[in-house]
Amino acid sequence: MKGYHGRFLEVDLSGGTCRDLPLDDEFCQKYIGGATMAAALVYERMDPASDPLAPESPLVMATGPFVGTPLPMVSRYAVAGISPLSGFWGEATSGGVFPFRLKGAGWDGIIFSGRAEAPVYLHLGEGEAEIRDAAGLWGRDSYETQEAIKSELEDDQLSVACIGPAGEKLIRYAGIMNDKGRAAGRCGLGALMGSKNLKAVAAGGKLRPQLADAAKAAELAKQAAAEIKGNLVSLAFREYGTLMYTDMALTLSDAPAKYFSKNVFGVEPFTGQALRQNYSVKNYACRGCPIGCGRDLKQFRPGVDVDGPEYETMVAFGPLCLNEDVDAIIEANHLCNQQGIDTISAGVSIAYAIHLYEQGVLNLNDVGFALNWGDAEAILKLVRMICEQEGIGVLLSQGTLAMARALGREEGEAAQVKGLEMPMHEGRAFHGLAISYATGPRGACHLKGDYYNVELGGMILEYLILPGERLESAGKAEPAAKYQSLKDLYDALTMCKFSPIQVTQLCQMLGAVTGWEPTPEDLLAAGDRSMAIKRAVSNKRGLGSQHDTLPAVCREALAEGSNAGVSPDMDTLLSEYYAYRGWDPETGRPGQDKLIELGLEHVAKDLYGG
Ligand code: SF4
Repeated sequence: MKGYHGRFLEVDLSGGTCRDLPLDDEFCQKYIGGATMAAALVYERMDPASDPLAPESPLVMATGPFVGTPLPMVSRYAVAGISPLSGFWGEATSGGVFPFRLKGAGWDGIIFSGRAEAPVYLHLGEGEAEIRDAAGLWGRDSYETQEAIKSELEDDQLSVACIGPAGEKLIRYAGIMNDKGRAAGRCGLGALMGSKNLKAVAAGGKLRPQLADAAKAAELAKQAAAEIKGNLVSLAFREYGTLMYTDMALTLSDAPAKYFSKNVFGVEPFTGQALRQNYSVKNYACRGCPIGCGRDLKQFRPGVDVDGPEYETMVAFGPLCLNEDVDAIIEANHLCNQQGIDTISAGVSIAYAIHLYEQGVLNLNDVGFALNWGDAEAILKLVRMICEQEGIGVLLSQGTLAMARALGREEGEAAQVKGLEMPMHEGRAFHGLAISYATGPRGACHLKGDYYNVELGGMILEYLILPGERLESAGKAEPAAKYQSLKDLYDALTMCKFSPIQVTQLCQMLGAVTGWEPTPEDLLAAGDRSMAIKRAVSNKRGLGSQHDTLPAVCREALAEGSNAGVSPDMDTLLSEYYAYRGWDPETGRPGQDKLIELGLEHVAKDLYGG
């Protein structure tokens, strides 16, 4: 197929060798790319019983077929493997220049296995791969590492994805940073990278695969860019970044506060407008994006520019901890980026610690200082202690489920699904979101579970996914499952989820790039297949239907806000969801017939024998 280089780079870090792994057309069409192709590769290579951080545990970085084409909003990549945080399927995506450079080096992705004896990094040039010594980089933060590699290789055009000290220390929610503050943050894949003694991947290159119809791709790209520029939501993203949603989140009771026990709070300090008024904000964009939702805060401190906090980070360190000190939230964000940890898991774990302190489960002796709601200084101290692995920070660095278990608390008090901390949108405000969170391939996932966009008018006509009553559970699971499959497909295409283009356009784009022009139904089937293979990875590691749930702390009805007294009916949502997916409600596995229908005969054979 066109649009691919037709090869991954397979790097054995134990042996210090690199070799090509050819991809055939059938494999490309079936798994498309990105996180889905990564899932197919992880499925083949995983040892279901081994520790996620064992040397044999694979780590995949993958681009999609659109990367390197003129299409807008496609410079993204997926990182995947078994999550050190959950023990199940783990994936994260990030945008920037790195994905373009990675594919520009001449491979569609990389699979790492083994563990280097000493710290190394991988340098990719055009068609060239070299494993290099990273001893001098170990211990350096993510910003320093990116600059040091560019300067060592005397190449300013290089783009670097790396871990910070958190990944080196195997912190269970360490992420991978690229292009300064862009993050593949979730699921602890930075710890997986650290366990391999792999500090960074530095990619440089401008190779582009041949396209099936380059003129058509250029025309579609032009059309899409014009639509994106004229789209009202895109304009709001450009103006205020992801913080444009803060007001709306409050109006709809969609943002959690005080460790998920409230949904009403003063919104003023946390909005995109406030950020623009109070700081010197400069936009930045992933390569080829006409929006530019990223924010640099210039001279945050004299001589220091920092990345602006995204909506998720702002709410996690803000309302969730009842903290109104935006300076401190920006500091916390910067510290997490430097050290390379996921701001969502860190913020939720800190909010849980404050809740436990209020309940008397943690005390002054355990923490070392008083821990009260809204205490910005204490929050920053805890971020540092997590990163430095000091005192109570060691427990907080393991996430809320491990915290609840260690302290003898009910697991329903831990704000997570399958071990991954809840993002900053509320399943109680949108029941389509609740079912997506409960069943998300990596756990509670705001990027595939953003059903609020549908309820707010972002309908998908090709699949009849239409706005409905947001607080209604019956009848919501099927459109939510289809929407989830579509968003899962975006991570196969490695397309930004803020792109407003339609499914029919996606089909045309795939045709122009690869030569395979699917129907919308083919694309939905590809999304369903993607969901099924990721599910099977987790099933092989012990995942069952008992894991498809929302924790009590995020499910029980709240007393105030626009959804007061209402909670999602999880039984109805789950039974309708399993019926749509063809998953067995007893075992939580994709059914044998469904797997065969999706072309996953090898998975059916594995899970059911025969
Ligand atoms: S909208 Fe933001 S995340 Fe998406 S491609 Fe553009 S700059 Fe990147």
